[in-house]
Amino acid sequence: MSNFQQGNYNNKIDYVFKIVLIGDSAVGKSQLLARFARDEFSLDSKATIGVEFQTKTLVIHHKNVKAQIWDTAGQERYRAVTSAYYRGAVGAMLVYDITKRQSFDNVARWLEELRGHADKNIIIMLVGNKSDLETLRAVPTEDAKEFAEKEGLCFMETSALESTNVELAFLTVLTEIYRIVSKKAL
Ligand code: GDP
Repeated sequence: MSNFQQGNYNNKIDYVFKIVLIGDSAVGKSQLLARFARDEFSLDSKATIGVEFQTKTLVIHHKNVKAQIWDTAGQERYRAVTSAYYRGAVGAMLVYDITKRQSFDNVARWLEELRGHADKNIIIMLVGNKSDLETLRAVPTEDAKEFAEKEGLCFMETSALESTNVELAFLTVLTEIYRIVSKKAL
């Protein structure tokens, strides 16, 4: 992962990429963000409601990329994610819980909402979280892989708890975005 050293290469930020987290309540969106941005995990559910974001700066292909990652922080419970949430997003992590079939069945609806609001070139990663709970698995990896291929999404299974694939999932999306944005700038 030599292209992905953390921290600033120099002081200048070359790109700011907005990434939104979406998916059903309790699939682990906040914990994925906490793990990626601060390398933390908490078993308690958060109490706050309202939109918030966190940032992390990474070096991708010698450029300083600031990832600005937005968490719905509870809005999705009421299916009331505002259009402002999606505005300007160049990437999305569409998260389901591998132990909750319903959260996977709802992915198509989230995708429709995302595509209705976001830029048509947005990079979307389908994320099957809680891969540490293999004994409780309700969504076969193959089902998700097939869906992702059909819809042109990236796909990865993660565990925010065990820190499996979390960084890789975000870095894959950021690198894809960088590839597109840097091509446009040529
Ligand atoms: P959100 O509503 O989608 O933001 O979900 P949260 O991040 O609040 O997580 C919901 C619950 O799932 C919390 O109790 C978390 O501790 C738990 N959780 C989140 N990620 C994982 C994971 O990777 N593995 C396990 N076992 N639990 C997780």
